[in-house]
Amino acid sequence: MHEMSIAEALIRIVESEMAAHGLRTVRRIKVRHGELSTMVPEALDFAFQAMTVNTALEGAVLEYEKVPLTMSCSACGTSFSPEIPELLCTPCPSCGEELGHKVLTGKELNIEYIKGDT
Ligand SMILES: [Zn+2]
Repeated sequence: MHEMSIAEALIRIVESEMAAHGLRTVRRIKVRHGELSTMVPEALDFAFQAMTVNTALEGAVLEYEKVPLTMSCSACGTSFSPEIPELLCTPCPSCGEELGHKVLTGKELNIEYIKGDT
């Protein structure tokens, strides 16, 4: 389950942000995850809760925002969102090219904000 390692990385980032901003407790953490990042929010919740028992992060709520997949065509540069995100070889809506599209968004996995108390 790779959500365990995501939770670990997340906790490390949040802890350094807490230190930087003098937060004693954290209430909300907003996570942006791309359609391609294959992260399962329920699994991350579970891992996060299990790993933050008896720490300053215990009880913090994770909020999620899914970032849709967008690509730019390798041939004509048109940006588009495939209807089926798993299909990276989707034909370009403007010229029909199927191969080599560049992923613009959809791979991200990052923290948008952290809310807590000082
Ligand atoms: Zn095209």
